[in-house]
Amino acid sequence: MEKKNIDWTNLGFAYIKTDKRFVSNFQNGKWDDGALISDATITIGECAGVLQYSQSCFEGMKAYTTEDGHIVTFRPDLNGERMEDSCRRLEMPVYPKERFVDAIVKTVEANEAWVPPYGSGATLYIRPYMFASGSVIGVKPANEYQFRVLVTPVGPYFKGGVKPLTLCISDFDRAAPNGTGHIKAGLNYAMSLHASVTAHANGFDENMFLDPATRTKVEETGGANFLFVTKDNKVVTPKSSSILPSITRRSLMAVAEKYLGLEVEERTVYVEELKDFAECGLCGTAAVISPVGKIVDHGKEICFPSGMTNMGPVIQKLHDTLTGIQMGRIEAPAGWIKVIK
Ligand SMILES: *Cc1c(COP(=O)(O)O)cnc(C)c1O
Repeated sequence: MEKKNIDWTNLGFAYIKTDKRFVSNFQNGKWDDGALISDATITIGECAGVLQYSQSCFEGMKAYTTEDGHIVTFRPDLNGERMEDSCRRLEMPVYPKERFVDAIVKTVEANEAWVPPYGSGATLYIRPYMFASGSVIGVKPANEYQFRVLVTPVGPYFKGGVKPLTLCISDFDRAAPNGTGHIKAGLNYAMSLHASVTAHANGFDENMFLDPATRTKVEETGGANFLFVTKDNKVVTPKSSSILPSITRRSLMAVAEKYLGLEVEERTVYVEELKDFAECGLCGTAAVISPVGKIVDHGKEICFPSGMTNMGPVIQKLHDTLTGIQMGRIEAPAGWIKVIK
């Protein structure tokens, strides 16, 4: 198999059409077998549920080439479980997690030529998603759906080196207390775009969203969970039922405990105590962990001792250990790595 002629090290984070995508349709109460197809366009009716009432959800994960030349994915069973949860909350039919993992494997295999080589820093981003394709005009769940998996190569996240982020505490809310914050629904992103464009216009990299009920507790950003390090090296992550359960964050907490021997804690984190932390990072599939240097709370600056040029020492170790596990340089806990080829 010959790799595509791409300048892997200079890839950005943008969609590039690849050769094959997986498609399965839900009709008459069941999913069909699904197939890999070449057509990158979708034809649906004008009254499809996704177009009228935004019934859709998605996942995000990556395939990597390891040091010894295998193509692997990272904990795809957890993405499958999370998509099942998203479907249930949105009254969509569940795409079973075993079939989800199988669809991921098939799609990556069919696009092997697009999987970036080891050492390039680039990876193959995998986007599974589901939407209501059946027509609805009255407000109710549709009765036909489509599940798809597309892949696209993406470049190294920290191109030109790490740069700690500056966040602002947002006046907008991301997720209602008993709403949909804990699932990966497109609608959560649609309504966060205004907050994110506003933050960028004001010179910030990201928003820190608080709990809407009291505005005293830290939740997450638009697309990544928080991790904090205390001055005595404890790793803390906020606990809330409206935070999206990041697989990267859950893995980093396990790495902190099992590989680095650090104490870990999932608990309520108050805005009040931000000034007392030594390090702060954002966790998600895209960057694994991005350091945060500064948080601005309505003009008041909270600067972390880790500073604005480097990752803090604990976040650096967490980053290096988890990427080492993903790239096959460090032995993984059982079940974390799914070898595709
Ligand atoms: C996808 C997502 C994350 C990160 O989850 P990972 O599984 O680590 O990629 C965090 N927050 C939100 C809101 C997300 O949608």
